[in-house]
Amino acid sequence: MADVSLRGVKKQFGALSVIKGVDLDVKDGEFCVFVGPSGCGKSTLLRMIAGLEEITEGSLAIGGQDMTSIGPSERGVAMVFQSYALYPHMTVEENIGFGLKMTGHPKAMIAERTAAAAKMLQLEPLLQRKPGQLSGGQRQRVAIGRAIVRNPEVFLFDEPLSNLDAALRVQMRTELSKLHQDLKATMIYVTHDQVEAMTMADKIVVLSAGQIEQVGSPLELYHRPNNLFVAGFIGSPK
Ligand code: ADP
Ligand code: MG
Repeated sequence: MADVSLRGVKKQFGALSVIKGVDLDVKDGEFCVFVGPSGCGKSTLLRMIAGLEEITEGSLAIGGQDMTSIGPSERGVAMVFQSYALYPHMTVEENIGFGLKMTGHPKAMIAERTAAAAKMLQLEPLLQRKPGQLSGGQRQRVAIGRAIVRNPEVFLFDEPLSNLDAALRVQMRTELSKLHQDLKATMIYVTHDQVEAMTMADKIVVLSAGQIEQVGSPLELYHRPNNLFVAGFIGSPK
């Protein structure tokens, strides 16, 4: 079970209070979207769940286990970033398997998992190409492949589609939703795009200035926004 639970989570950067007390439960297998304007703290929250950023105050549990002394690689989470940061001199196949290779996994297992991820992401014909020979959407698929081969229980996506053109974004949305159905993993997905949030989420978390304004299904937020901020960002005006 990979439910994610935050209690009273705060983050300070020096004197700057960026996350101001967040309580949240993401259920096992849920597709949860963090949405909110630029600078409201979405990436910081995600990075704290990933273990890439320390929590100043409060607690985080994944699968019921407290994460305070658990490093990023032991959390069963994999993060996909906005900038794909692929290795330009390696093939697609090598890029996908690289993390597993570095952590000493056996060759046969790397090959097997890479093949399975490539099939799922329709990258099979491209495995011997270099990133420079790929389109933006194909590169983003490779970045997702790198996460999939690690078999995480929780996927963290930080605006993974924001570098893609509009048509490709629509296509990738559908593909990511299908991936979620296939893998049945918990997914936490950050975006500032409310259409992405509305079409992909089981649960939407609306953030503003380091605080949760509202949590609910897309329909709940659309029809019953708590306040004008949520209404303006997602729903119809009250
Ligand atoms: P979002 O992802 O919603 O755009 P971020 O989480 O990146 O927002 O940033 C939230 C706030 O925290 C911003 O004001 C940003 O400038 C600040 N911030 C983020 N990372 C750092 C850091 N390492 N040091 C200082 N301030 C930071
Ligand atoms: Mg961000």
